[in-house]
Amino acid sequence: MTETDLVPVFDGHNDTLLRLYQSKDTDVEKLFIEGKSGGHIDLPRAKAGGFAGGMFAIFPPPVEKSRRGAVPLAPSAAEPLPPEVPRNEALTSTIAMASILFRLERAGALTVCRSAGDVRGAMAQGSIAAVFHIEGVEAIDPELTMLDVLHEAGLRSLGIVWSRPNAFGHGVPFRFPSSPDTGPGLTDAGKALVKACNQLKIMIDLSHLNEKGFRDVAALS
Ligand SMILES: [Zn+2]
Repeated sequence: MTETDLVPVFDGHNDTLLRLYQSKDTDVEKLFIEGKSGGHIDLPRAKAGGFAGGMFAIFPPPVEKSRRGAVPLAPSAAEPLPPEVPRNEALTSTIAMASILFRLERAGALTVCRSAGDVRGAMAQGSIAAVFHIEGVEAIDPELTMLDVLHEAGLRSLGIVWSRPNAFGHGVPFRFPSSPDTGPGLTDAGKALVKACNQLKIMIDLSHLNEKGFRDVAALS
C-alpha cells in the first residue's frame, strides 16, 4: 500500500503533548519530527499511518505521580477517585504543553487549527491538523478569565474533568464494573463554563464526566 492509498484519519484524542512534556527532553520538536520508538504519535508514524489530524489533548498529570513521571490508568474494582490537582500546578503543566503544541507548529510539524476551514486547509496541504484540546480544566479559574486567554490562543475543545473532581464537576473513577452515577452534577462554575463554551464555540468532550454532569451538559449545550 502506498501513502496515496491511505484513508486519512482524523483522530478524536491523543496524548502526544503529555508524552513530550514528560519526556523532559529539551528538544521536543526533534523528538516528534524524527520519531522515537515507544508510545504515542510522532511525525514519521503519523505519515505512515495516514494520520491527517486530531485533537491534541493537554492533560494536567496528577501532581504526585507526575513527579515520578507516570500516570495511573489501570482500572481496578476499588479504585478511589484521584485527588484534585491544585490550580497552580495544573496551570504550569497546561501552559507548558500548550507551548509544546505551538513549538511543534513553528517547527513545521503540524498546523494548529482554529476552525473547520483550518482543518480542511491543513489536510489539503498534507500538514497534520491539530486541534488544541484540554482534558481536565483545572488550569481555568471559576471566574473563567483563563478561558478567554486559552480560547484566544486557540483552545477549541475541552473535557471538563478527567477522572477526578475539580471546581467545575466530578469525574468517574477508574473502577470496573461501576455505574457512571457516582456523584453530584456540575457546580455553578461548571454550568457557567458550559454556557461560556457554547458562546465561544468551544466543543465539550463528555469523556470521564459522571452521569449527573453529563445530564447537566446535555441540558445546557
Ligand atoms: Zn488523554
